[in-house]
Amino acid sequence: MTGSTSPDNDFVLAVHGGAGTILRSTMTPEREAAYHAGLRRSLEAGRAVLADGGAALDAVTAAVVELENEPVFNAGRGAVYTSAGKQEMDAAVMDGRNRAAGAVAGICGPRNPVLAARVVMERSNHVMLIGEGALAFCRAQGVAFEEPSYFFTEARWKALQDTLALRERGADDHDDSRKHGTVGAVARDRHGNLAAATSTGGMTGKAPGRVGDSPIFGAGTWADDACAISGTGHGEIFIRYAAGHEIAARLRHTGQSLEDASRIVVMDILAPADGSGGLIAVDKTGAVSLPFNCAGMYRGYVRADNVLRTAIYDEPLREFIGA
Ligand code: ASP
Repeated sequence: MTGSTSPDNDFVLAVHGGAGTILRSTMTPEREAAYHAGLRRSLEAGRAVLADGGAALDAVTAAVVELENEPVFNAGRGAVYTSAGKQEMDAAVMDGRNRAAGAVAGICGPRNPVLAARVVMERSNHVMLIGEGALAFCRAQGVAFEEPSYFFTEARWKALQDTLALRERGADDHDDSRKHGTVGAVARDRHGNLAAATSTGGMTGKAPGRVGDSPIFGAGTWADDACAISGTGHGEIFIRYAAGHEIAARLRHTGQSLEDASRIVVMDILAPADGSGGLIAVDKTGAVSLPFNCAGMYRGYVRADNVLRTAIYDEPLREFIGA
């Protein structure tokens, strides 16, 4: 759908605000506008980095910080709740230049979990830290923290109560729109380097301690010298099918285009396996692909032409000229 390539020195940034989107029938114009505006703010933050000649890694980090700060998306402020009524967030960042990677899982405290993941990547000898150990490390590194009240939103709390009530009646409808969400960004910078970042509260009513695909490299987050991927959807399936790495492997070993590889993974591999969701992908040529197999995926991308393109459903992307 968006597979055109760009000149060598061009850059591209794609973002998502999660799949399993609110059904069109229950969406209000105000909400819809808020989602588009949130996506645009994220694209503008990442684009500013890339337009300056900055690194893809810094652009995806900046873009995800914006989305984490938006309470309408399920990451950072506005994260969903576990079945025990707690928020447990996962985040990851990966640099395609050298496969440097950092992730956190099962944390609540850092204002921006993606910055916690970045600190793990840059200042520890490890790739992933979880729970209390991750929090202690982040505190020691001076990562900014917030009180639990900062992360609270009425809408996510209600979604948990609805989910628990349905479960109690044995009537869990597995409604994607109530449960899902994640944010992510992928970019190719002017130097041709790639990076990916993903951040999530996970799935509403998840078991305490459950970790999804977002912080698992090769599943919900991946970046190498071929492509960068950030996924959103039924995390267990993205993990079992190594969704992100499957796309990279197809580019490397079969010569498939980014568009073909990412569509095959989302439509032909994940969907039949109960893996509802989608992903955003860019490759080293600057091609972009944004496939999803559910009602919608908050998504957008921008190139050096500064046209911010965003969409929610299976619909043409709206175009805005950036500031
Ligand atoms: N993939 C996320 C997870 O499983 C949730 C989502 O993107 O909807 O944690």
